[in-house]
Amino acid sequence: MPIALIVHGGAGDIKEERFEGARTGCKEAAQVGWRVLQAGGSALDAVEAAVRALEDNPDFNAGRGSCLNKEGKIEMDAGIMDGHSLNVGAIAGVELIQNPITLARRVMESEHTFLIGAGAQFFAREQGINPCHYEDLLTERQYQAWKHHTHSSLTYEAKTDTQQEKKQKHGTVGAVAIDSAGRLAAATSTGGIANKYPGRVGDSPLVGCGFYADEHAAISCTGYGEDFTRLMIAQRAASYAAQGMDARQAGEAAINFLSKHAEGDGGLIIVDHHGNVSKAKNSKCIAHAYINEQMTEPIADIF
Ligand code: ASP
Repeated sequence: MPIALIVHGGAGDIKEERFEGARTGCKEAAQVGWRVLQAGGSALDAVEAAVRALEDNPDFNAGRGSCLNKEGKIEMDAGIMDGHSLNVGAIAGVELIQNPITLARRVMESEHTFLIGAGAQFFAREQGINPCHYEDLLTERQYQAWKHHTHSSLTYEAKTDTQQEKKQKHGTVGAVAIDSAGRLAAATSTGGIANKYPGRVGDSPLVGCGFYADEHAAISCTGYGEDFTRLMIAQRAASYAAQGMDARQAGEAAINFLSKHAEGDGGLIIVDHHGNVSKAKNSKCIAHAYINEQMTEPIADIF
C-alpha cells in the first residue's frame, strides 16, 4: 500500500511574519511522521509523532505555544483515532501537560475514551506522565495576545463572538496518515481559542468533529470549533469518502457544508484509503505540509 501523510498548523488569517515559521514547522513535523511510516511504523505512531513535534514547536497553538483562557490559564484539548480498530482517545481542559496528544493516546489504550480536566491529569500521573511547568507551555506571543484581550474585556460577560472574531482566532495542529498496511489514523491537538471561557471545549477533542478515521479516510480539522462541532465536519468528510469521493472531493464537500451552514471558518486535512492527501478550507490560509512516496521531501505551504 502507498504510504502518505499530511499535517496542519492551523487555519485562519495567519499573519505574514508567521509564514516562514509555520511553513518550516509543518515541514519538520511531516518529516518526523514520515520517518515513522518509512520505517514500517503504523499510521497511529506517525500521526502521534508528527503532532508531538508540532506541540513542541512554540509557533503553534498546541502544547508549548498554546493560547491562554480568560483567566490566563492554559487548557488544552487533543484527540487521536485509529481508523483500523476504530479506537479513540481524547482529553479536554488539561493543564500542565507537555504533549497532550500522547496523553490522548494513553487514554485510547486504556478502558476510557475521553477524560477531562483534573481526572485526565490524575490519569496522566498514573501513566508516569509528570506535569510540566506553566512556563514550559507559555510563550511571549500568547502572553501578549492575552494581555491585549484582557485589556479590552475584563469580565466574563456573555459576549458572543463577532463574525470577524470567528474568522481570526484559529490555531490547532493535526496530522493524518496511511501506513504500508493500509491503516489510517488521525490526530488533533489544540490550546483552543484565544481568551476562551474557562472550561470551553471546541471540536478538537470531539470524535467526528475535530478528528476522525475509519477504513475510508482520516481527517483532522482546524477552525471555529463551535461550528465544526455542531456540523460534525470530520465525520461528514469521512462519510463523503465512504460514498466514493476521493480525498480532495470529500474534504471540499465537507467544507462547502460548513460554508453553507455556519459563519465560522477553518479547514481540514484528509487522506483517503488510496493514499491521496488533500486539504480544504474556507479561511484565508491553512498552514500544512504533505509527503507521499513520489516525493523526496515534504511540500509545505500556507495557502
Ligand atoms: N478548532 C479549535 C477550537 O475551536 C481552534 C482552532 O482550530 O484553531 O478549539
